[in-house]
Amino acid sequence: MDLNEANQYINEASKWVTRGSAVAGVSYVMALVIVVGRHALSKRIQSQAELEECVGEEKAKLGMTASVMAYLHSDGGAYCRKNGSAYEMHVGGRLGATRLGVRHELYHIHKGDTDKPYSPWKFNLIQEPRAAAYGAFGLKF
Ligand SMILES: [Zn+2]
Repeated sequence: MDLNEANQYINEASKWVTRGSAVAGVSYVMALVIVVGRHALSKRIQSQAELEECVGEEKAKLGMTASVMAYLHSDGGAYCRKNGSAYEMHVGGRLGATRLGVRHELYHIHKGDTDKPYSPWKFNLIQEPRAAAYGAFGLKF
């Protein structure tokens, strides 16, 4: 193989990498739009009692026994964290304070995401898509 031939292979490979990246990027954005749309259409949780009932129902669906303290806020999004040996879930705002938001955060806890140190790559490529798929569609991976 001469240098010119090798260069042609590299150029062809880079075209396919670019096309693959574009398809992956468009797919990711489309999935994000669908998930956010489902959250926007989900009924908003109106009270702390309603939130706790929802958390109990969704924990049972996952077979979770861990203690999860849930907090309803008037705005903001949704997140969860481990605090000592207990778990906390905070939900608020139009997109966060919904059953889908609760399911999303519970799945993070269920899969042990809050037990591990934060890693941006692991969070964005594995943990967040996995929680989004369960929250919006009930898909378990
Ligand atoms: Zn998440």
